[in-house]
Amino acid sequence: MAGAAITAETMGGALAAIMAWRVTPDVAPACPLCGAAGLGVSDHSARPHAEWYRLVCVACGLDQMLAVPMGAQVPGAEG
Ligand SMILES: [Zn+2]
Repeated sequence: MAGAAITAETMGGALAAIMAWRVTPDVAPACPLCGAAGLGVSDHSARPHAEWYRLVCVACGLDQMLAVPMGAQVPGAEG
C-alpha cells in the first residue's frame, strides 16, 4: 500500500502512539494506520514551541513528520 499518510481521522491514534513511545521509548508502538507492530518513531524537534516526530512503518509505507504542540497531551503538566 503506497501513499499511506496520517489524516485528521488517524491523527488521534498517531499522537497516542507518539505519547506511548515517549513514555516507553524501548517499546515500538503499533502503527496507527495498519496496526502493525514496530512503528518507527524519531524525535526531530527543532523549535521551542512544537515537537516534531517522524513516524515510519515498513508494513504500510507510512513515512510522515507530525508536529505536536507543546503543552498538549503532557501528563501531569500544570498550566
Ligand atoms: Zn503501518
